[in-house]
Amino acid sequence: MTALAATETLAFDREHLWHPYTSMTEPTPVRLVTEASGAVLTVDGREVVDGMSSWWSAIHGYRHPVLDAAVVDQIGSFSHVMFGGLTHEPAVELGKRLVSITPEPLQRVFLADSGSVSVEVAMKMVLQYQRGVGRPDRTRMLTVLGGYHGDTFDCMSVTDPVGGMHSMWAGLLPQQVFAPQPPAADATEAEIAAWATTLRHIADQHHHELAGIIVEPLLQGAGGMHPYPAACLQVFREIADEHGLVLVFDEIATGFGRTGHLFVSELVTPDILCVGKALTGGYLTLAAVLTTDEVARGISASESGVVMHGPTFMGNPLACAVATASIDLLLSQDWAGTVERIGTRLAAGLEPLRALPGVVDVRTIGAVGVVQLDHPVDVAAATDAAIEAGVWLRPFRDLVYAMPPYVTSDEELDLLIAGIGAAVRAG
Ligand SMILES: *Cc1c(COP(=O)(O)O)cnc(C)c1O
Repeated sequence: MTALAATETLAFDREHLWHPYTSMTEPTPVRLVTEASGAVLTVDGREVVDGMSSWWSAIHGYRHPVLDAAVVDQIGSFSHVMFGGLTHEPAVELGKRLVSITPEPLQRVFLADSGSVSVEVAMKMVLQYQRGVGRPDRTRMLTVLGGYHGDTFDCMSVTDPVGGMHSMWAGLLPQQVFAPQPPAADATEAEIAAWATTLRHIADQHHHELAGIIVEPLLQGAGGMHPYPAACLQVFREIADEHGLVLVFDEIATGFGRTGHLFVSELVTPDILCVGKALTGGYLTLAAVLTTDEVARGISASESGVVMHGPTFMGNPLACAVATASIDLLLSQDWAGTVERIGTRLAAGLEPLRALPGVVDVRTIGAVGVVQLDHPVDVAAATDAAIEAGVWLRPFRDLVYAMPPYVTSDEELDLLIAGIGAAVRAG
């Protein structure tokens, strides 16, 4: 692309296109991507290591030949057909993978077109299940502070009401029940027990109106990159069982190995599981909701008898085909070793940043590295400094963080670590 064409493209973008969480009248600058390959993006004509995996999704990096081929092959057959009354091999093959790689009780699959939609569907399922088992008064969700579950209205209602991005909607959203955020990953047993006692108390108080629990298991992502103890998951399970609540794990960010577990749900099995983001290796938008037979039967016993949801692009064959290829590619390699390699290197490389002024915490979990500052990051300055260091980062709030593609080499990781350091110093 010529410099003139690039300038014109950016000028049109600035004038007409909304970007995530940005103003149309005073847009923050965007940069132009012209190529992407492996763990490297070409941004404003410059090759930089991608620290973000395009928001958790591009686990195999960009232009992976296996994933490229899966899309091209499927285009050669058909790109889309409606899922109402029709089915196809790409959806069935993906369904087989999802049922076999997630915990055994999760047998029923609903294919949704984005993470937020999958959370909407999961919450609708929770309500329909409660109606089906004769508890129509159970209409509220129990969740914890610090969570993020998507940008549509029901998703916003379970996203952190204060610290989240949607505090402006307070009062207009369905009123859910919030419990304290789980303690940090290194919490003592006493701290975990104190948190659990509070959670149990809140559940006891509200049990007559609660329908389900929804949380991001083990790691809260966009709400603040907060890893918490696995022991908390068992507490959610126990409370759900005690009060007849449907337990929903939103693994849209944590799924497909990112935390070191293929799914956190391997530790504690939920009744409903949402996956998305890395499902297609970052190629196309797709998410899935998996449920137990019991939940499926409960939904079928509700007055409608069916799941009241059916998006136009449900089960899109291109997305399903690339998702199946991405899962097979992941499982064909030592993904756990890779995640550990990345995590260990990030942990060692980021540790010295603790000494920098303004840094309050450095933490890693799986292939995720986080540096927390004592002030909101100057995103423009931090991003500039990162690009200057050869790295693409997208800090938010007080956090500079990275969850790189699994194909990132050790040399690229070192560059990434240097870039995070540069962003922290500048931001
Ligand atoms: C990103 C995310 C969502 C929303 O997914 P979209 O595909 O952006 O709609 C929901 N929950 C979690 C935990 C996420 O990280």
